[in-house]
Amino acid sequence: MSEEQSTCRQCGTCCQNGGPALHHPDTDLLRQGKVGFRHLVTIREGEMAYSPSGVLEAAEHELVKITGRGGGWTCLFFDKDNSSCGIYAHRPLECRLLKCWDPDDLLGVVGQDIISRRDLVNAGDPVNDLIAHQQRECPAEVVASAVAGWRQQPENEKCRAILDDLIRRDLALRNYAIVDLGLPAEVEFFVFGRPLFKQLAGFGVGLREVGGHLEFLWP
Ligand code: SF4
Repeated sequence: MSEEQSTCRQCGTCCQNGGPALHHPDTDLLRQGKVGFRHLVTIREGEMAYSPSGVLEAAEHELVKITGRGGGWTCLFFDKDNSSCGIYAHRPLECRLLKCWDPDDLLGVVGQDIISRRDLVNAGDPVNDLIAHQQRECPAEVVASAVAGWRQQPENEKCRAILDDLIRRDLALRNYAIVDLGLPAEVEFFVFGRPLFKQLAGFGVGLREVGGHLEFLWP
């Protein structure tokens, strides 16, 4: 970024740092089908995620964001070959406000008027039961505190054991919802957010299956 920059050069850097969190003014995009549940990922409160200013930190509120491509952070709608946005005319509020040379407008809406899952799922929809089930099996605050405890003391066996149990519960719930209840796999990240093992992969935790059992590889 040069000091003289005052217009977007369409370099795509911002789009590769993660899709935008949605705000209530973005609701029409969903109503009009420009953006669907399959394009979304939920960041649960307390989950480690990159803020609009590029800092990895625990989310203060639940967020619903445009998901990344191929398990990464690059926005699903970003076309790398053409350095363009697939929904440019309908891009969400944060994308319209983002000016990398002057982030004040964007930072002014962070955490304001944000959309959460409960805003998008109708009362009586069984997905609400799945979200409540997740909160019982893997309470967001327990996950956040276990992750924080483990990051402070990576060798702490107790924290690892708690996370080990939470990861298994998280995976079992997703499997139950998709295989037994028929939840479309493409909406998994909206309904449950990213699997806990994927969140921890960013901190170097590995996961492999050995003889039908999950084995964790702690850094
Ligand atoms: S929606 Fe479009 S402008 Fe916004 S981050 Fe994604 S590709 Fe970039």
